[in-house]
Amino acid sequence: MSNNSCNYTDCTRFSELYALFERLTPLAADCGTVCGGACCRDLSHSGEGAPSGMLLFPGEEAFRRERGLEDGVVLHRGTEPLFVCLGACRREQRPLSCRIFPLFPALGADGRIRAVYDPRAWRVCPLVREHRHVPLQRAFVRAVRAAGREIARTGEGRDFLARQAEEIREFNRFLRLDGERPPICRKAVERGAQRT
Ligand code: SF4
Ligand code: SF4
Repeated sequence: MSNNSCNYTDCTRFSELYALFERLTPLAADCGTVCGGACCRDLSHSGEGAPSGMLLFPGEEAFRRERGLEDGVVLHRGTEPLFVCLGACRREQRPLSCRIFPLFPALGADGRIRAVYDPRAWRVCPLVREHRHVPLQRAFVRAVRAAGREIARTGEGRDFLARQAEEIREFNRFLRLDGERPPICRKAVERGAQRT
C-alpha cells in the first residue's frame, strides 16, 4: 500500500483501506436487496439503552475529520468512539466498520488475524445467521483480514483489536460462531484450495 498523509510506521492508512472496500462486498450481488438493508437504520433514537452505532478504529475519527467526511455523528461514551448515522449515507463516506460488516478482523491468542463472522451482527444480518448456506466472496474475506493486519501495525490498533477479540469471545460463549467454518466458499475449501 502506498501512503496518504500519514507516516507508514505510526498511523493506519485509512484512505487505502476505504479504497480497498470501494468495490468489494460480502456477496457479488447486493445483499441489501434481500434484507432491506437491515444494517443501515437510524440508531440515533433506538431507545435501546446504551448507544448503538458502528465502531471507529483508532485514528479513523481524525482521518475522517481531515478528509471532511461529514456524514454521521461520533459519540464518545465508552472505550471506543461510536459512529451513529441516520440510516443513510453517501457510500464513499461510510466508515470502515460498515465496509467490512458483517465480518471482523479478530486477533487470536496466537497473534494471527483472522476474518471472522462478527457475532455482534447476528441479530441484524442474515448473512451471519445463514452462514452455513451463504458463503461470502473470497476476495472480500481476504480484504477484511488484510485490513486487520493494517490496523494491527500500530500499537493502538493492536490494543483495539485485542479488546474487540475479547468482546467477540464473550459473544461466542453463547453463539459459538468461532467453532464454525470460516466465512469462505465452502466448495473451494473442500477441494483443498488455499485457505484464507
Ligand atoms: S444486514 Fe447483512 S445482508 Fe443485510 S445489507 Fe447488511 S450486510 Fe448485507
Ligand atoms: S454509515 Fe452508511 S453504511 Fe454505515 S450503517 Fe449508516 S447508512 Fe449504513
